Formats: sequence, structure tokens, C-alpha cells
Amino acid sequence: MPMEPRTNQPEVWKKGQQVVANYNFPGSSKEDLPFKKGDLITIINNTKDVNWYKGKNESGQEGMVPATYLQKRKEVQLHAMPWFHGKIKREDSEELLRPREDGLFLVRESVNYPGDFTLSVCHKQKVEHYRIIYKHNKMTIDEESYFENLAQLVEHYTKDADGLCTRLLQPLQKKGSSFSAVSVQDFESGGWVISQKDLQVYELIGKGEFGDVYKGTYRNQGVAIKELKDKERAGQAFLKEASVMTSMRHPNLVQLIGVVIGDTIQLVTEFMGKGNLVEYLRSRGRSVITKKDQIDFTDDICSAMQYLESKDLVHRDLAARNILVNDNNTAKVSDFGLAKYGDYSAEGGKFPIKWTAPEALRDNKFTNKSDMWSFGILLWEVYSFGRVPYPRIPLSDVVMHVERGYRMEAPDGCPQEIYNIMMQAWEIDPKQRPTFKQVLEKLNNLRATTV
Ligand code: ADP
Ligand code: MG
Repeated sequence: MPMEPRTNQPEVWKKGQQVVANYNFPGSSKEDLPFKKGDLITIINNTKDVNWYKGKNESGQEGMVPATYLQKRKEVQLHAMPWFHGKIKREDSEELLRPREDGLFLVRESVNYPGDFTLSVCHKQKVEHYRIIYKHNKMTIDEESYFENLAQLVEHYTKDADGLCTRLLQPLQKKGSSFSAVSVQDFESGGWVISQKDLQVYELIGKGEFGDVYKGTYRNQGVAIKELKDKERAGQAFLKEASVMTSMRHPNLVQLIGVVIGDTIQLVTEFMGKGNLVEYLRSRGRSVITKKDQIDFTDDICSAMQYLESKDLVHRDLAARNILVNDNNTAKVSDFGLAKYGDYSAEGGKFPIKWTAPEALRDNKFTNKSDMWSFGILLWEVYSFGRVPYPRIPLSDVVMHVERGYRMEAPDGCPQEIYNIMMQAWEIDPKQRPTFKQVLEKLNNLRATTV
């Protein structure tokens, strides 16, 4: 007999599931583990009672916790936006939409008002254009109804014309569209939003593409706080980076702790005391960094990359500058700003030429194999103590040399096994490059035998 879905039954949490507190729980017996709203609890065991679990808090204390006070942390997913056509001209949108049925629509980036969008709808053999104003991180057409993002705006006008010439009936799909959106509300419902008052912000420790990075504490834990400078412009890219991080958990990936949503958006991650790997290598050099450190770093990084490979996530910006090192000397991969799922193409952009595989530069083909190419460059960085790759070759000539078969020599003192991995990572044919799984096995062995 087929199983009926049991809608009233609470879902069962497995060992290791992270949950977040929705309310304060003072506890009533000494078996209980008291917690406060916003605390993170890791499930250890279930009990006979579906409403009670054994859990562990972030200080390692264990005890009984009531499920009804807690919520599972969910991955934040991107909404597809097949109707988004990017920056196309008004005339082109009219060409695309006419003469077609009423209610056919698309959304495009405004050419005249950078940062704003336009909704173009087909109606009575004409195309109507509505300006979408981006204001205080919200979107509106009529300055009455406001939306978090384009996806929500479109959803609203799909249900009801609400002042437009017609309800949105059918999206004009962009071929090969890869645009997607994420909203602040998705982070709230996923249990990722943390309260500003639990966060102490200290000194500036770095500068990122989207804004400054500060050292801080979150409930007595050392954290890094990345503040979004210009919310209007970079909001989506920033939130996408955070959304990728919500679905990732690995000891060698920089862990997202939560996001703060206020006047600005802040991304809170675990604190990595020794900063980024390239500066660490350069400032400590051969006198401090040992063979053992080098193999430990590369093995750590490969381990994280093998995890990403197993999840079909392509990082696209793997380089020593995007690796962070903590006080225990553990290296972790960060910077998921460009990360994408799957075998990725389209959506052009600027890429770090010296780290990017030839097929990725040429045809925008980013895969785990192009990440492997970058990993080879990263190995070279580690074993040359943070030198810039392809020394003495001007940036504009690098691609030409590489396509003609030029490859960097092994850095001074680099073990032959490591150089072999570099050379395999730099096979011109992506299929000939090893997987991270294969490389990890070699590095694990090397790590075990390096003292
Ligand atoms: P972007 O990717 O926008 O360039 P990053 O995330 O690389 O920004 O941050 C810029 C710099 O801030 C890093 O190179 C590093 O020095 C510092 N930083 C970032 N995150 C952390 C962290 N979790 N712990 C310690 N330092 C960090
Ligand atoms: Mg960076």
C-alpha cells in the first residue's frame, strides 16, 4: 500500500542537524539545556518523545531541548528568473515582444536609469513599459506596493494587474537564461538572520570587493563581519554569495554564521586569525613556513575542493588570496562570490587571467576541471611562498604563451610529486586533468609522510 504523506507529523531531525532557537528556553530541570533566541544547537540524538531532542550548544554543553522552540536551518535557494533579459534596449524588447499575445512580458535592466529596471508587457499589439524603481533596497512600480526583489514583483503582477494594463500572463523566456535572485526574506525563513545586538564590531581587517571586513565577536565567538558598502548596487551579488554559503558545511570551508539585516547587510563568518594565504606566505616566507605547513595547506584546500566537486559547485575564483588561515594553521576556502552550480557558461565577466583555465577564458566554460587548473596555480603560489604566477610575463601575453604550451617551472625546493600534480592540472584538455578526489588521495599520502 502506498504511504500517505503525514502532514501533521513533525519532521525528524537527524544527528548533526543544525537548528536555531526561535524563543528563549530557560529550562525547567537539570537535564534541560537552556538557550536563548538565536542560539545554534546541534542535534545529538532523538528521544522517544518527538518533541524532545538531546542537543549541544556552541560551548559544547549538552542537554534536552524542546523541538517546538527550535527551527531547522534551511539552505537559501535562488529563484530562477527566466524572464530577465539583462541590459537590452527598449527597441529590442519591443522587437522581442511584438506582435504576440497579451500579457507576454519580460524584465530588463534600464539603459537610461542605471540600477533601475523596466517591465515590458505586450498589450493590444503594443508594448507598454513600466519603470521599476529601486529605492531603499526595495522595488516598486507605483510607489504603493514594494517588493524585495524582481521575482516577488513579477509574482505579484502575475496574480493581479493591480494598475498595469494587464496581468502578467506569460514570461518571454530568455534563451539559456541563468539569472536568478534571492531575497532577504529567504534568509529570515531559513533561520540565518542574526541580531545586530549580539554582534560587537572591532577593527578593520580587510577590504573586499563589496565593502570593508571587520573583526568582531558574536556571542563570545570571534567572527569576521563583511559589510556591504553599496546595498543598492551589489545587494544581489552579496546575498548570492551568502546563499551559496548556507548550503555548504565542511571543516575547510569558511563557515557562514549568519547575516545581519538592517540599514546595511552584514555577512558574519568564522574568524580566520592569520588572514589570507597569499599575504601569510609572503610575510612569513621560507624562514617560518615549513614543508609540513605547505603540504598541510594544500591538503586542506584540496579537501574542501573535493567537497565542492562532490556537490557540483564550481568555485571559479580559486587562488591563494581567497584562502584564509586560522590560528590553528588550518586553511579554508572562502570567497564564493563567483561560485555557481554545474557546468557553467554564459554571463560574461572579468576573470583573474593568471588563475583561469584557457577554456574558461575563451569559451566561458567553468567546471570543476577549470577549478583544477586554478588549483595548480595555487599550488605554485604555495610552493613559491606567495609569488605572483608567471613572473616576468606581461599579463597580456600570458594566454598566448599558455595556449602555445608554455608552463611554469617548479618553484625552488618544490617536491617532484607536487610539481607533477601542477603539470596534470595544467593539461590543455580539461578531461585529461585529474579530479580533486584523485589529487586528494595523493596529497593525503604526502601529508602523512611529510614531517
Ligand atoms: P572580496 O572577496 O570581496 O575581495 P574577501 O572576502 O576576500 O573580500 O575579504 C577581503 C580580506 O578581508 C581578505 O583578504 C582577508 O584579509 C580579510 N578577511 C575576510 N574574511 C575574513 C575572515 N573570515 N577572517 C579573517 N580575515 C578575513
Ligand atoms: Mg577576496
